[in-house]
Amino acid sequence: MSVLDGRAMAAQIREDLKGEVSALRARGVVPALAVVMLGDDPAARAYVRGIERASAAVDVACTVRRLPADAAHEDLARTLDELSADPAVHGIILQTPLPPQIDALRLGARIAVRKDVDGINPTSAGHLLLGLPSYPPATAAAVMEILRRAAIPLRGRQAVVIGRSAIVGKPVALLLLREDATVTVCHSRTAALHAVARGADVLVVAIGRARHVGAAFVKPGATVIDVGINEVDGGIVGDVDYDAVAPLAGAITPVPGGVGPLTNVMLLRNTVAAAREAASLT
Ligand code: NAD
Repeated sequence: MSVLDGRAMAAQIREDLKGEVSALRARGVVPALAVVMLGDDPAARAYVRGIERASAAVDVACTVRRLPADAAHEDLARTLDELSADPAVHGIILQTPLPPQIDALRLGARIAVRKDVDGINPTSAGHLLLGLPSYPPATAAAVMEILRRAAIPLRGRQAVVIGRSAIVGKPVALLLLREDATVTVCHSRTAALHAVARGADVLVVAIGRARHVGAAFVKPGATVIDVGINEVDGGIVGDVDYDAVAPLAGAITPVPGGVGPLTNVMLLRNTVAAAREAASLT
């Protein structure tokens, strides 16, 4: 069994990104990411601090636009319009969770597709569906990056994705399909879930249920990618019962230290790509 070390992979990508950013800066292009957040949710604040740190580590400029928790939909939309039009900004992300008065789907459409580094604009989602160039949601990109770096074969293999959210399950399924895997998407209404999951050569789990996926869900030798982040007793655990599944799996991502560390790095990589694109240096 091999442990797929997301931290080590993220460190390597950061090194590569640093080189790319310094080459861009030498040409007068400063890759810049703008984070828009609403209110003061502690988890969101911690996540945004993580993005700021990760940006600083690769020399990407990162600015945070904080709007009050009771900001109107139109205030947010105007902020996204401004950032979309600002030539000094290359990547834009809208931090979740958002309060109920905000329609995240409609807002996503206000992020220019070429700056939509977390893939939330419905047009980006359409591009992903059609196989056109776009930035997929960063977490989905992180899953694929782990599989690629670990050289896990996908073509013709059975891939099962548990979870069908717009930001993880669905985009991961589309990206696996693009790599010629045979993809099954499962969700909370799937019958005999463990039996379906046991058919997987590659099992991706994104359900938000602590340690839900145990040994009965996993074919011996399968690759298991655990996207889950659940707080349990002051610590973080995945959606997979790591101790039960690791002895069976061919390869597995730990939580923490698997998909999580790569997610921010994917945002930054997309931002650097967007900066290069904007400067027509590709
Ligand atoms: P979500 O709540 O939007 O979607 C959960 C999905 O899981 C739904 O499609 C639902 O049908 C399915 N589901 C729920 N319970 C199930 C069950 N018992 N059996 C089968 N399917 C079930 O969640 P999300 O935003 O996709 O996030 C999923 C997990 O991934 C969460 O733990 C979240 O914290 C984590 N996450 C991690 C990262 C990262 O960077 N690593 C990023 C985003 C989300």
